[in-house]
Amino acid sequence: MKEFDREALRWALTNAVEHGGHADAKSVVGKLIATQPELRSRIRQVMETVEKVVKEINKLSLEEQRAKLQELGVAEAPKREERRGLPELPDVDKYPKVVTRFAPNPNGPLHIGHVRAAFLSYEYARKYGGKFILRFEDTNPANAMLEMYDKIREDLRWLGIKWDEEYVQSDRLDKYYKHAEGLLKAGGAYVCTCDVMKFRRLRDGGKPCPCRGLPASEQLERWRAMLESKYQGEHGVVRVKTDLKHPNPAVRDWPALRVAAVSHPRVGDRYRVWPLYNFSVAVDDHEMGVTHVIRGKEHVVNELRQRFLFGHLDWRYPTAVQYGRLTIGGAVLSKTQTMKGIRSGEFSGYDDPRLGTIAALRRRGFLPETIRQVILDLGPTHVDSALSWETLAAYNRRVADARANRYFFAPGAVKLLVEGAPRLKELRLRLHPSHPGRGERVLPLLYEGDALAAYIPGADAASLREGQVFRLKDFMNVRLTSREPLKAEFHSREVMDVPKLQWVSAGAIEAEVIKPDASRELGLVEPAAAVLRVGEVVQFERFGFVMVDATEPKFVAIFGHR
Ligand code: GLU
Repeated sequence: MKEFDREALRWALTNAVEHGGHADAKSVVGKLIATQPELRSRIRQVMETVEKVVKEINKLSLEEQRAKLQELGVAEAPKREERRGLPELPDVDKYPKVVTRFAPNPNGPLHIGHVRAAFLSYEYARKYGGKFILRFEDTNPANAMLEMYDKIREDLRWLGIKWDEEYVQSDRLDKYYKHAEGLLKAGGAYVCTCDVMKFRRLRDGGKPCPCRGLPASEQLERWRAMLESKYQGEHGVVRVKTDLKHPNPAVRDWPALRVAAVSHPRVGDRYRVWPLYNFSVAVDDHEMGVTHVIRGKEHVVNELRQRFLFGHLDWRYPTAVQYGRLTIGGAVLSKTQTMKGIRSGEFSGYDDPRLGTIAALRRRGFLPETIRQVILDLGPTHVDSALSWETLAAYNRRVADARANRYFFAPGAVKLLVEGAPRLKELRLRLHPSHPGRGERVLPLLYEGDALAAYIPGADAASLREGQVFRLKDFMNVRLTSREPLKAEFHSREVMDVPKLQWVSAGAIEAEVIKPDASRELGLVEPAAAVLRVGEVVQFERFGFVMVDATEPKFVAIFGHR
């Protein structure tokens, strides 16, 4: 073997083994160039070779890759050191106990972006032996959805996030009213009945509206009128006084409570006046003793607004930690788009594989540990991050590889007759190559006359040449004698360095795999898969990790990743 080919193979194998069985050509090229800078001059050729090598290597199982690496005499790189964990939070010593909260709006499903707030808040509370609160922010009666409270709880439980206390804002209106009234009395807020456009014009010019200067007695009277629904339509807004010259006009005299004559899915028509986000959050963060607010940086302006309220009431503003947005390669995260797609039937539900929801990730076989590790490794960085499915898959492989049992699956299966094959009733194979303790699966064999009747993947069948020797994995090597009809003859049993194909024989089950783009791939899976239960993650060898989605009336699995 030429020195360069050997090096390419070595780095490709190392990269594959480090990433749970899947090498990335770009990283391999990077390694090669870093160790041999002279390669830079023929980069194109390097890339071509590496791509070829990587393609071949990725067809092997992790065990085979490990074995090859050993053959090359390369010791496996030590497992990458666990990251040091989360960076310290600021101000921890200023508080007797760290209190964090996750505050989702129950108006849509949780997705990978939300989970960043959830995990960071939860893990920080744990790190410092503090308290973690779950708070549903549902003070917009027009968009709270009854089914979401439980869905969110369910997602959090699945992720392994446990909360010490739970609050629902729509149960707390009396508290918000009390503070609103106190604020009006003390002159920190006013009831504005101006036309919104007129108010904005004044605000943008840094001028007060006529309502702002009215005495407290008048404000309280207006407040009562709001509560008693005396205002027509949507009029009547409690505004918190701020600096009218604040450089950002959106911060000036922001709305805190307003009339919303809409029925709330939890508390019905009991209330007509509803607090807006900034007000209820501020009151709750204070009342619940939240010490560290860990939230997306899109809330930076909200923090400025909320600080004015804290100032009026002489409260101490919690320590705020802001992080960037997290998206995942091409997946739909927008609530509006998700909801619209579900309503129109474009998406099959909250767990449609094209969505970035937790439900979709779960359905695709991503494990909660994976999601946790990804989020913790990112930490509370301020920059926006776009997670790729490959990264998520690489993390998941590390956990799933050891856990998932193996099965043969022949996508687009076509029949192959093997003449002269050893005559056995069945083959017993390990459920997991490196965990013999898990037991075996039985692959029954079917013969037609003298020939073994096997089914192999359609794509493999199409690429076989007459005379080519290949292996029916874990059984025997055969030589192709005819392409049409597809026939082969027995060659030998011991492992050879030839392409290894998935195959099934007697009793194979028709299976359908749903791909991330929602397309479906049909094939045959070995009969042992009949005992699998919905929700189980297994590896269809050489095909990928899949999660069993249904067993009745048909075996359906969702493709996770390679
Ligand atoms: N309910 C808000 C959200 O989901 C919480 C933001 C915050 O942490 O204050 O965006």
